[in-house]
Amino acid sequence: MAWVGSFDAFVQSHLPSLRVEREAKMANYTSFRIGGSARRMAFPRTEEEVEQLLSFCREHEVPCLVIGKGTNLLIADEGLDQLVLNMLEMNKIRVEGTRVYAQAGALLSRIAVAAQQAGCAGLAFAHGIPGSLGGAVAMNAGAYGGEMRQVVESVTALFPDGVRTLRGEALRFGYRHSVFTEEEGVVLSAVLSLEKGDSAAIRAEMDDFMARRKASQPLEYPSAGSTFKRPEGHFAGTMIDQCGLKGTAVGGAEVSTKHAGFIINKDHATFADVVALIGVVQDTVFREFGVELEPEVKIIR
Ligand SMILES: Cc1cc2nc3c(=O)[nH]c(=O)nc-3n(C[C@H](O)[C@H](O)[C@H](O)COP(=O)(O)OP(=O)(O)OC[C@H]3O[C@@H](n4cnc5c(N)ncnc54)[C@H](O)[C@@H]3O)c2cc1C
Repeated sequence: MAWVGSFDAFVQSHLPSLRVEREAKMANYTSFRIGGSARRMAFPRTEEEVEQLLSFCREHEVPCLVIGKGTNLLIADEGLDQLVLNMLEMNKIRVEGTRVYAQAGALLSRIAVAAQQAGCAGLAFAHGIPGSLGGAVAMNAGAYGGEMRQVVESVTALFPDGVRTLRGEALRFGYRHSVFTEEEGVVLSAVLSLEKGDSAAIRAEMDDFMARRKASQPLEYPSAGSTFKRPEGHFAGTMIDQCGLKGTAVGGAEVSTKHAGFIINKDHATFADVVALIGVVQDTVFREFGVELEPEVKIIR
């Protein structure tokens, strides 16, 4: 907590135009609608601001959490004695030919629409994923047979040793995995390489994917999407369903009756409710199938 005074003084003297929210309720910044207050949340608008904020954190040994749209996060009710870097104000998108240049805070849905309107194909899968580009690159987000690694040409990111542009193998993309899940690094922007396509056909594909999401996912409740990663050779949702866990609840958290792979915040669920329910699901699936489910959702305490 001692760092907060130095932080406020640092912002006043070095970054006077930076927007900072004090005691920012994380429940307001996550799709799960769960989480106590972060001591400070900063909304950088430029790469220089990100650099200065991270230098402050390193110098003062302040933990820093980078977030986009908060759609893959479960945050403790006690809150975070950390600086949260909210990237959503760095959100420019530019399409040139079949390349999309976008900043980390741009929403995937907006990028997908910009690409579709410019007649660029290959990003329809991402349209319904509710996160930002930075979160999607970090998680190698994917759906309906597509994933970020298929379209990312390069990523410019800030690492402790400075800004670097990575491509290919250096991005270490795997299933819901990238270099950013292994190493400290903030995605600043990325270039996506797409193909020439027909706008109307891409729109139809996006609409089809969205209709399938609406039909199969509990979008009417707060959640963080699929709670668990897909274990090799299995589907988490199918195993959870076969264990009869649909509708199982702990406090206000429930295994969705619509899609067993989603834990939803049905009624004012707490962090502890969701964590306990994750444990119930993991124990039951392990007992029945001998398979260990690993959370896809990032649990932050
Ligand atoms: C209803 C629903 C449906 C979903 N469907 C899908 C789906 O089909 N496929 C899928 O893959 N996911 C899905 N998700 C999960 C989620 O939307 C994705 O993981 C998304 O990519 C997360 O982006 P975000 O901006 O919300 O990241 P956040 O939740 O804010 O952060 C997620 C992780 O990325 C890191 N991160 C965020 N921004 C940056 C950055 N700029 N630099 C470095 N690290 C960063 C964070 O530190 C954190 O570790 C769904 C979620 C919901 C709620």
